[in-house]
Amino acid sequence: MSNGVILQAFEWNVPNEGHHYEFLQEQIPHLAEAGITALLLPPVSKATSIWDTGYGIYDLYDLGEFDQKGQVRTKYGTKDQLLQLIRTAHDHGLHVYADVVLNHKAQADEEETFLAVQVDPDDRSVELGEPHDIRAWTKFTFPGRGDTYSDFKWNFNHFTGVDYDSLSGESGIYRILGENKDWSDNVSAEKGNYDYLMFADVNLAHPEVRQDLFNWAKWFIETTGVDGFRFDALKHMDHAFVLDLINHIHSFAPDFYFFGEFWQPGLGEKQSYLDATEYQTDLFDVGLHFNLFAAASGPYDMRQIFSGSLVEHHPDLAVPFVDNHDTQPGQGLTSFVDPWFKKIAYSLILLREDGYPCIFFGDYYGLGDPHPMEGLKDMIDNLLYIRNKYAFGEQEDYFSGESLIGWTRLGSPDHPGSLAVIISTGDAANLRMFVGQDQTGKTYKDITGASPNEINIDDEGWGRFEVGPGDVSCWVEK
Ligand code: CA
Repeated sequence: MSNGVILQAFEWNVPNEGHHYEFLQEQIPHLAEAGITALLLPPVSKATSIWDTGYGIYDLYDLGEFDQKGQVRTKYGTKDQLLQLIRTAHDHGLHVYADVVLNHKAQADEEETFLAVQVDPDDRSVELGEPHDIRAWTKFTFPGRGDTYSDFKWNFNHFTGVDYDSLSGESGIYRILGENKDWSDNVSAEKGNYDYLMFADVNLAHPEVRQDLFNWAKWFIETTGVDGFRFDALKHMDHAFVLDLINHIHSFAPDFYFFGEFWQPGLGEKQSYLDATEYQTDLFDVGLHFNLFAAASGPYDMRQIFSGSLVEHHPDLAVPFVDNHDTQPGQGLTSFVDPWFKKIAYSLILLREDGYPCIFFGDYYGLGDPHPMEGLKDMIDNLLYIRNKYAFGEQEDYFSGESLIGWTRLGSPDHPGSLAVIISTGDAANLRMFVGQDQTGKTYKDITGASPNEINIDDEGWGRFEVGPGDVSCWVEK
């Protein structure tokens, strides 16, 4: 899709009243018109309660259809509302991606007693004490759904670890013992072995688990019609399983799109993940996010803004983003890009040639309590307009100084007309940039509206473009 843009269609604190799917459905005509081409939905399966954003996942097959965990609906609405939303999105030409949580399960129906060994939370390869019986919530029988869609019931054999022993009343990380049972080797090596993240960690090597997840994927894609998956917690999931699942899905849905969250700033282990999964998933550009966060937070050399990012190393696989539900204030990975820098950050992800950018709901519509922030919809709509009309063709960089960078896009046969983007994180400044010999004699204006001035393009196709302090200007033919 030419100049596609994803909207991450939720923030952590959207109201839990069950109207979110309806809200999104009402917004779709505007989003399509504004240039959004895909929606990333929150996890749509039944989680621990209607207050759960969806990552405390209970039953993959319950999309808001069965009376489980206190309600039929999820935080966001019912299955019917979900399917209606997806149909409406498709009617308007948008793709829909689902956030898929396969690493763990939460809030089992029954407790079980089994053999386990406690491990050091800072190095999970180190055992603390002797194996002993523990009792934990690992039996999933789904009494509200029964055998509908799948008769698979989960027990402790299907998990690798838990974080609470109700016999001793102690919290910790417990590795479940059994034949051929261990943490996966194909996960992040952080903390000795980062297979375990939270809740009951799914054993992705267990044949019954694999079979049910493969069945679920087919059922889910056929039921909802979604066009892609965003894999949650890739760092903690067996890479071989991920590759097998991708190949399984591609066997019946060849164009299905995959991207994922591998939460690590540097390239490091992301590279081994990409090798292991044969470059079949795009990844969120966590490195760029941290660069944007740093640049918004203090002195920063803007010439380094793409250093170490995926956009720099694997532009074809990069999903650049400014913020998300984990980085917003109050969340575990808080690293929220300061509002003064948002326009600069969004111009860096939306107006360049590399990556498949993702806009955060919280930046677009605003954040709810307890850390409210006003949405920046008009500003982002303006940049989307520029992206879809002018961000085409050859890109030339003018990364001139610590606080002053710019670039031009020279247009394409389908999208003629040049664009000059200039960013200053310091004082008002200007920068001479080439916009094309064919632009000679033309007058340019700042289409963001930040500068009221006009700029003339000289005989050789260059202009001296201006920007205000701590701002972005985007110059196009008047
Ligand atoms: Ca895991």
